[in-house]
Amino acid sequence: MEPHGLTMIFTGNGKGKTTAALGLAFRALGHGFPVCLIQFIKGSWKYGELESAKCFADLLDFHVMGRGFTWNSENLQEDIQAAREAWDFAAQTIRAGRHRLVILDELTYLIKYQMVSEEEILAVLRQKPEAMHLVITGRGASQGLIDFADLVTEMTEIKHPYKKGIKAQKGIEF
Ligand code: ATP
Ligand code: MG
Repeated sequence: MEPHGLTMIFTGNGKGKTTAALGLAFRALGHGFPVCLIQFIKGSWKYGELESAKCFADLLDFHVMGRGFTWNSENLQEDIQAAREAWDFAAQTIRAGRHRLVILDELTYLIKYQMVSEEEILAVLRQKPEAMHLVITGRGASQGLIDFADLVTEMTEIKHPYKKGIKAQKGIEF
């Protein structure tokens, strides 16, 4: 069967969006598929996965976008600029078509915080190479992204250990 590139979204407030994306990366790498992971928010990719990624150096490209952005910074213009540059890089990566799976981790926030327009992002997604799978993560995926995607899963928080005061732990949160 010819590969049918899918656009998949993991959204919602519960834990597991980035974890699910990393799980798919692990699965694809096992088939020898080149994978690219682009992190849009500074620090969203954690120590554990950054170290593991080194084991797949020949197949896995990961890009922690330069300065990244946080949207609580003093300097909104700089954040917008950083978000734009990160998106331009992602758009180039998609067009280049070198990877079988491209993960756009926390992309939803660029639209939510009006740093890049939904239309501009959708224009690139519509032109993606046929065989390429895309994964988009982040809370509050916009309606346009949802309409475009082939698969959308919403992580719903039923329980989270933070609620009873259990702090972030090695191997679980980072
Ligand atoms: P993960 O990276 O663990 O899969 P995520 O991608 O679904 O989480 P994000 O919205 O990106 O979640 O949040 C990143 C951080 O916030 C993670 O360290 C995660 O454990 C934590 N987190 C996620 N969901 C919750 C929640 N419902 N309550 C408290 N903290 C959360
Ligand atoms: Mg995440």
